[in-house]
Amino acid sequence: MPVRLKGSCRCGAVAFEVDSHTPAPFMLCYCSICRKQQGGGGYAINLGAVFATMKIKGKRSHGVYRAEIEDEERPHCEVSTGERNFCRKCGSALWLYDPTWPELVHPFASAIDSELPRPKQRVHIMLKYKAPWVEPDVRKGDKRFDLYPKESIADWHRRTKMWVE
Ligand SMILES: [Zn+2]
Repeated sequence: MPVRLKGSCRCGAVAFEVDSHTPAPFMLCYCSICRKQQGGGGYAINLGAVFATMKIKGKRSHGVYRAEIEDEERPHCEVSTGERNFCRKCGSALWLYDPTWPELVHPFASAIDSELPRPKQRVHIMLKYKAPWVEPDVRKGDKRFDLYPKESIADWHRRTKMWVE
């Protein structure tokens, strides 16, 4: 059985729940969107979950942000296909949905109220775009990437035996 993740914003106007086979908070993203929108420590942590099982309460307070991106990888400004969902009352970032991968949704670990498994090793991504003041806490066994790794969130869970069947 997948785990049922329950999450909410800080003020309680928006709450959600969703099934996940991949609940380990192992992937730390240091890109500027994650840092500015959600990552006070310089990064955000995305989980993976099954979009078809998602239930959302408080849709009236719920907002969607699509970032405009212009960087060395994308020299012309593009609007991200990623839909960053947040609470319009309190500002909490809640989950990312990208129609490019319509069967998945990526809740932010920070919005989850259920207990999450503790990963034994972590992956630090988009380090090329981290803020200069951010000193990644890279521990033994952690992996680092300037951009994205080839290994998906699902593949990582299978390799480390943290996949929840
Ligand atoms: Zn709120």
